[in-house]
Amino acid sequence: MQVEERLDDVLSRIRQAETSANRKDGSVSLVAVSKTFAAEAIRPVIAAGQRVFGENRVQEAQGKWPALKTETPGIALHLIGPLQSNKAADAVALFDVIETIDREKIARALAAEMARQGKAVRLYVQVNTGLEPQKAGIAPEQTEAFVRLCRETIGIPIEGLMCIPPADENPGPHFALLARLAGRCGLDRLSMGMSGDFDVAVAFGATSVRVGSAIFGTR
Ligand SMILES: *Cc1c(COP(=O)(O)O)cnc(C)c1O
Repeated sequence: MQVEERLDDVLSRIRQAETSANRKDGSVSLVAVSKTFAAEAIRPVIAAGQRVFGENRVQEAQGKWPALKTETPGIALHLIGPLQSNKAADAVALFDVIETIDREKIARALAAEMARQGKAVRLYVQVNTGLEPQKAGIAPEQTEAFVRLCRETIGIPIEGLMCIPPADENPGPHFALLARLAGRCGLDRLSMGMSGDFDVAVAFGATSVRVGSAIFGTR
């Protein structure tokens, strides 16, 4: 299969999952995760109409996205990997959405950079639903207080929550937990679901799914 066909296939599986879950057509958006793939591999996906992409490293994204964004206006680039505060300026300059806020230091660094650059980036808080020590994200029980800190004390808008369930577990309970936490925070955007489980995530209320290998092939 060509990359265009794989993109079509993922999009139609998302639409099917929306229908099965009695959700409105188009209520879930696709973030095409292009990490590790070069600009030449990404261009056909842009040409096929995809406009929302995800990368997990600031430096890698800087090597390919400024040119791709110039070629095609209207692209939204999501940062879905961990962010260090010394990269906050670069991240704010390049990305349209940052999904991985998980501590006060990075929230403050992003607030300062958005003010300095006069650029509003859409922001998500990452939750470590499986409490995995090697994984980024705020603990579930601290999520509500952290979202409040971001909004009220630091003064940045938070649009939704993001999670990456443990690789070896049934993702359903993790998606359900993220949805419950979002409800408590008054948030209605959920970034959850990857190549192996995006249809499950749609059933649990995902509003965006982050799909890499099912579109671009194995990394
Ligand atoms: C790589 C990555 C994805 C996409 O994973 P696939 O299994 O290739 O679909 C989604 N989310 C995050 C945070 C990632 O790092």
